[in-house]
Amino acid sequence: MIRIPKSIYIAMIEHARKEFPLECCGILSGKDGMVQKAFELENAEQSPFRYSMSPQEQLRVFEEMDGESLEMVAIYHSHTHTIPFPSETDVKMAFYPEVFSVIISLKEEISPMLKAFRIQKDAIYPEEIEIV
Ligand SMILES: [Zn+2]
Repeated sequence: MIRIPKSIYIAMIEHARKEFPLECCGILSGKDGMVQKAFELENAEQSPFRYSMSPQEQLRVFEEMDGESLEMVAIYHSHTHTIPFPSETDVKMAFYPEVFSVIISLKEEISPMLKAFRIQKDAIYPEEIEIV
């Protein structure tokens, strides 16, 4: 289970809406599945169908997390036109099987949906999200 403070939950949805129709992406950091801080990253692909985080930006975030003794809890991104379920590309590009993948779907404009998964070698495990 991943626990996300309400303020961060709202900020992620706002981030997704701000980047629409492009996918947004970011990193959630914290400890033991509890999110404490969100980092918005640029989608280096600038695409409505896929995302990637630039290595330089990722490095900067990793250094900041290190400095604050935070761990990477999740990587999040948005689906602007599809349901919140990992795409084939998401599975292929899941380089951190130990962290959660959080997907924000803007398919239903007035009620965005958030889902969490662990993506491991060709298998997708749904995980619960608790908003705290
Ligand atoms: Zn995706």
